[in-house]
Amino acid sequence: MINKVFKNKYFPASFQSFTLIAFVLLIYGSIGVTTRDPDFAIILRNTNLANLIVWSYWWPLIIVTAILFGRFWCSVCPMELITSFFGKIGLRKKPGKLLQSGWIITLFYAIILIIGIHTFAIHRIPRYMAIYMLILFAIAVIAGLIWEKRTFCTYICPIGHLLGLYSLLSFKQLRVIDPNVCENCKTKECISKANHYNFIGRSCTSELYPAKIKDNRSCILCGQCFKSCTKNNIVIKSRKLAADLFRDIKLSWAEIAFFMMVSGFVVYEVLSEWQVSKQVVVAIPNWINHSLNITGSLSGTMKAVVLFVFLPLIFYLTFAIIKRAAAKESWLKAFTQIVIAILPVTAGMHLLKSLLKTTSRIPYWKFALAEPDGVDNAQMLINHPQLLNKEILAGIAPVISIAAILLPLGAFILSLLIIRKQQYANRLSKTISVIAVLIYACIFLMPLTAWRFF
Ligand code: SF4
Ligand code: SF4
Ligand code: SF4
Repeated sequence: MINKVFKNKYFPASFQSFTLIAFVLLIYGSIGVTTRDPDFAIILRNTNLANLIVWSYWWPLIIVTAILFGRFWCSVCPMELITSFFGKIGLRKKPGKLLQSGWIITLFYAIILIIGIHTFAIHRIPRYMAIYMLILFAIAVIAGLIWEKRTFCTYICPIGHLLGLYSLLSFKQLRVIDPNVCENCKTKECISKANHYNFIGRSCTSELYPAKIKDNRSCILCGQCFKSCTKNNIVIKSRKLAADLFRDIKLSWAEIAFFMMVSGFVVYEVLSEWQVSKQVVVAIPNWINHSLNITGSLSGTMKAVVLFVFLPLIFYLTFAIIKRAAAKESWLKAFTQIVIAILPVTAGMHLLKSLLKTTSRIPYWKFALAEPDGVDNAQMLINHPQLLNKEILAGIAPVISIAAILLPLGAFILSLLIIRKQQYANRLSKTISVIAVLIYACIFLMPLTAWRFF
């Protein structure tokens, strides 16, 4: 079924056109709605229909899809359509070394996380969300006009590393059916320069040769090679969970830095669901803010820098130093080993966060649909919080509790299986990876158990 869709000449453009219209409607539904009151924004984020869809459903769905099935969001993402279109008429310059290093993606993500979300609350204030989406569109257009192919997707998109790393876990992969057919293929339409700017049946503009794809990170499942390959030699097929992680994976420093931030962010996101663990997580940034007399939105900036940059850096650096002392691993190898070990737990906890978010917002749908801009309903819910019907949440609470334990446990076991298969300089280095992932998993498991069962 998927393969049939991918071979269709109207794919992905028809889906992308649909999501493009959806994006425009979401911007329209949020650009005129704003507030300066942070407490009001906490409710408004759920009563404004566009904001509710983007942050509580669309974004979690992207995460869940990437972890379970791979980069299928990219298959329908309107940014790809936009940047490829402008790439066709633009200057087609080659991206420089800085872009190719992947650091722009990491930096862009850090700016959105630390400045966008934790300083300006783009996830709570609808107008800021709309501005953020417009900025993304503008950068996709500018990148398309300047650089060749789809440089925005390959080297700029702020979620590129996230989707790439999570897709290493997925149950699906795009590969060639028979490598021998590719070896004997004289025309190689899938990488031919002449096809780079075709509207239908483009050769790969993500710098990939389908016959040599080693893992899921870089293929954005655009489906163009399905149509450019005249030998019908490309397929999306099922595989076992996290198949890529059982092989030797080389990560760049940009990906490692990116993942360190994400692993800190997921700790904060999951533990802030329970007030008790939230107090513990924010204790250090609160103390720093208090000591330095930092207030207002800047306190959010400091909190994000501490939780997503400093603390993860200390955690990873500690284990990397021990690995180097114990097994003389190189810095890159030591950090890579810890990232690969921890990846399943971070992804598992991101799944849990998505589940918690999407379910907890169910009671708001009634209000968001009745009044899409959400301002009056936000005020009403502040005055009369009892109007929010939480009965349905009580009904699904046992399922959430079981997921809150099974997900970290299952992810931890997967991490152990991956560590067992990975190459290490010696046994001690392997043990250090186990200890790192054990500590990381316990950071979730202990508070989640206390929250849901005691
Ligand atoms: S890489 Fe980013 S911009 Fe490109 S298709 Fe994927 S999500 Fe969209
Ligand atoms: S994927 Fe298709 S076009 Fe590309 S080398 Fe293989 S057979 Fe040839
Ligand atoms: S290999 Fe390239 S052209 Fe084929 S689906 Fe992946 S990104 Fe698209």
